Amino acid sequence: MTVRVAVNGYGTIGKRVADAVALQPDMKLVGVAKTRPSYEASRAVAKGYPLYLAADGSKEAFEKVGLPVAGQVADLLREVDVVVDAAPDKVGRENARLYQAAGIRAIFQGGEKPDVAEVSFNALANYEAARGKHTVRVVSCNTTGLSRAAAVLTSRWSVENWEATIVRRAADPAETKRGPINGILPTFQLPSHHGLDVRTVFPKLPITTAAVVVPTTLMHVHVNHVRFATPPRNVAEMLAAFRSTPRFHLFGSWEGVDGTPQVMEFARDRGLGRNDFMENALWENGAQLDGKDAYFFQGIHQESIVIPETVDAIRAMFDLAPDGAHSIAITDRTLGIPPP
Ligand code: NAD
Repeated sequence: MTVRVAVNGYGTIGKRVADAVALQPDMKLVGVAKTRPSYEASRAVAKGYPLYLAADGSKEAFEKVGLPVAGQVADLLREVDVVVDAAPDKVGRENARLYQAAGIRAIFQGGEKPDVAEVSFNALANYEAARGKHTVRVVSCNTTGLSRAAAVLTSRWSVENWEATIVRRAADPAETKRGPINGILPTFQLPSHHGLDVRTVFPKLPITTAAVVVPTTLMHVHVNHVRFATPPRNVAEMLAAFRSTPRFHLFGSWEGVDGTPQVMEFARDRGLGRNDFMENALWENGAQLDGKDAYFFQGIHQESIVIPETVDAIRAMFDLAPDGAHSIAITDRTLGIPPP
């Protein structure tokens, strides 16, 4: 079976999802919907993706600058089995009405509240929960990173308590209207919503989070303190668990990766699409075990980490793979993410 896919909302996440879907052997990208003409719209046309008008988009505005329009988003929705909504935060909920009217399945992103969909999803954590579902929410970048780590740790050891501080990037690289450009902004909601969001995937995980926003565009960093009821024997055992799991990349101390700048430089040298880094980035010398207490940092490339998960969500909804491991293997092979 080839699942026909639409992408509604063609920004940071939408354009990456479109490229990823176009690479899948069991999916067909039918078209993308965009509100305004822009360099991103012109790239979609250059790639041969049929371009549809999202929301209040004007056909004249696109055609005036030489960008052909294939129709309205409603026309696109009639041609597909599933739509990936990648509109801005909270807009997905409004768009949900369109998808219901079209009678098609829908995937939402983490900027929507959990009740927008039947299940909140992470491929390593709860692939089975999305199997056959009509609506799925792929959790946010931070929640994806934490859920992947939780999938590794909770499947091997019992976690008594987990505190994570989320050091958040202020904006994506192309966003010029967000900040701060100088200063550190504590998030005064304590605990922050991220821990609660992880519990939409792991309902019983005793995790709490706090967050600060810092002036960088490259990546988020999580500072994790996990207290185990029954800990790993040593830090090497914990690191081996991460290393042997897909979508984790461990940097050795000899590699000279001091922080997020070198992670992104590594990504540029590696040269996957857009120089993205879709794995959780861990530093071997940034992990410690002290009795029952484990500490580790992880870097999260916010622009790309949810892309493989979105592809796996489609595969789970349409039962295209025998299990999560098979789906992850196909997704990672096609996207160029190295196996463990
Ligand atoms: P974005 O602003 O980069 O892109 C959104 C696109 O949707 C824009 O092109 C916008 O013009 C378009 N749009 C506006 N109204 C629309 C409508 N009614 N219908 C269809 N399209 C519309 O946003 P983004 O960063 O790609 O975020 C999309 C979703 O992904 C959000 O839920 C966000 O929380 C989530 N997410 C973002 C990141 C990130 O770091 N950027 C990471 C993970 C998840």
